[in-house]
Amino acid sequence: MTRPRVGAGTRRAADAGEFELIGELAALFAQPADGLGIGDDAATWTTPAGLVSVGTTDMLVEGIHFRLDWASPEDVGWKALAVNLSDLAAMGARPGRALLSIGVSPERREQAIGIARGIQAIATRTGTSVVGGDTVRSPGPLVVNVALVGVAEPDHLLRRDAARPGDLLAVTGRLGGAAAGLAALIDGRARDDVDLQPLLDALHRPTPRLAAGQALAAADVRCAIDISDGLASEAAHIAKASGMSVEVDLAAAPLFETAVRTFGRDRALQLAATGGEDYELLYAVDPARLDALTEALADHGGLTVVGRVLDGGRPGEVTFLDGSGPVVLDAKGYVAF
Ligand code: ADP
Ligand code: MG
Repeated sequence: MTRPRVGAGTRRAADAGEFELIGELAALFAQPADGLGIGDDAATWTTPAGLVSVGTTDMLVEGIHFRLDWASPEDVGWKALAVNLSDLAAMGARPGRALLSIGVSPERREQAIGIARGIQAIATRTGTSVVGGDTVRSPGPLVVNVALVGVAEPDHLLRRDAARPGDLLAVTGRLGGAAAGLAALIDGRARDDVDLQPLLDALHRPTPRLAAGQALAAADVRCAIDISDGLASEAAHIAKASGMSVEVDLAAAPLFETAVRTFGRDRALQLAATGGEDYELLYAVDPARLDALTEALADHGGLTVVGRVLDGGRPGEVTFLDGSGPVVLDAKGYVAF
């Protein structure tokens, strides 16, 4: 609230409204007892000895990342924190303190409060506390930014650059649901269509794989990434960061039955490969540890092998298979069957 506001009317009037909105937002967020939360110039908290802080942030812009005719303000808030929690999950970290920044026009305060409610809903479920933020006027689209800091054991971080030759690539959960939900909305299907519920839930209420990430880290897995841009792109990130050549068998990708029923298998697979916003984990495992990890992940999204890290090949290269042979992803990411 200290920056100049070009053309925002009298400073005093603007401040009065913003203070009131901050007060309403702040009232929604339970404050932890072990530090300073909302109300001072900055928040404080302690990091347990021997752990490192793990920080991430993600910004959502109305019209680009969400539409309020397709998602409720609560959905938007849920997702704004969920995507950050997914980054922590992919590092093997745990939550966490969050800071929430909102840019909103004064007449849309109810939507800002709805967003804060959605954030608090997933914060409560994941042991996250919202301890501060910033609230500004935006004459245009609503903007929501969440910054999140968690903790992890420094020797058990899950990194993109730690895949080894011979590792298997595996995923939690199922892929392509969120992209299929979005495709259905773009096709004009209703946002409350019960037949599409699993897909719309995947799109609007993703569940970050925090327990899976922590289980992988505890089991000495070293390499993981969260699937925010589709299996193909995340496999390429691991290949590039690790300097390895990897193979992904698209036919092995676990799909949503509802997506296959609604769009057919080929399109459902396409959405899983390139659609994004799944917020599942892709990770590299030593084949000798497959059974132990399958058990460790049984209650946390499970383990489905979708590929492997090659011994040799060109660093950073990804080869896609469809069960029988190689397939090509074209420039737009479409699978050429
Ligand atoms: P400052 O001018 O020092 O930045 P502000 O008036 O912006 O303080 O904010 C007052 C308090 O309210 C601070 O503790 C800040 O972290 C908190 N706050 C402001 N906006 C939000 C928000 N959208 N969500 C949570 N806390 C917020
Ligand atoms: Mg401020």
